[in-house]
Amino acid sequence: MTKIGFIGLGNMGAKMTLNLLKANYEVIGYDINKESVNNLLAKGLKQATNLSQIAKFADIVITMLPNGDIVEEVYDNIIDEFAPGTLFVDCSTIEVNKAKQLHMKCENKNILSLDAPVSGGVGGAEQATLTFMVGGTEKAYKMMLPLFEVMGKKSLLCGSFGSGQATKACNNMLLATTMIGVGEAFSLGQNLGLDPKKLFEILSTSTGSCWAINSYCPIKGVGPASPADDDFRPGFSADLMLKDLTIALKAIESTNTSAPYGKNSRENFERMVNANQGSLDFSAITKFNK
Ligand code: NAD
Repeated sequence: MTKIGFIGLGNMGAKMTLNLLKANYEVIGYDINKESVNNLLAKGLKQATNLSQIAKFADIVITMLPNGDIVEEVYDNIIDEFAPGTLFVDCSTIEVNKAKQLHMKCENKNILSLDAPVSGGVGGAEQATLTFMVGGTEKAYKMMLPLFEVMGKKSLLCGSFGSGQATKACNNMLLATTMIGVGEAFSLGQNLGLDPKKLFEILSTSTGSCWAINSYCPIKGVGPASPADDDFRPGFSADLMLKDLTIALKAIESTNTSAPYGKNSRENFERMVNANQGSLDFSAITKFNK
């Protein structure tokens, strides 16, 4: 059976690893925070105390790390130790151009690689309902597909190198913008004296409906349970949304795309984070929007 190395056992990585262990995969894990590794030992995780041990053991290496610079540092540290044909799958959210550079590094060493960022958050990681947006070759995707199926409910090969990160940047830019729009619609409704529950009933079944209303309504007591009903505890934090919008902004600038709403959304999230509210769920932006 395929042997897996998992690097980055934080909020997302630990839960993805648990699902691989439950499916009886052999997994060796590494994290600079030893506690993250220790928490999984009783569940069957093998412990790597350095990256070389991952290289010796794994056929497929999955990374779930905070940002592109850290992913690059990890790749640079271990890439020379892997046998040709090993598959590197980066599930972190990183810049599109950085993902392309990492693919090139892998290709030069005959290492297979995929960029495969996820949507679905910590809940999706726990329940194995993540969506994987994948960039790379058909060959690498087919090799990884059984593992995507264990950790998620959907995966799609979106295109060549970097296409997974590109798809994620588009999705999260749209999500941020629709969430801000939903907040504006409810503010206007409130100022016009509408009952928010009745407004929800119409918006969620009319042409204005979208995921930000139907599944994640940012108004307390309205719609299905969401972080708004729990003092905006994340969920998906505003800090992470700002990170994703900064990735989208870099992509907007490098492709000369006209995206004023996406840029404006990023400015709003920057304001929220600068006001020390970045640890709140991103849907609390509806309170900071200007
Ligand atoms: P996290 O901070 O909880 O976990 C990251 C882990 O990486 C930590 O345990 C940290 O100790 C470890 N780490 C840092 N540097 C390392 C290194 N050099 N070597 C080994 N381990 C190292 O973050 P998270 O919430 O799990 O997010 C991980 C990635 O997933 C990010 O890129 C994030 O943008 C993306 N993501 C997160 C969510 C979410 O809801 N949390 C949703 C979708 C995507």
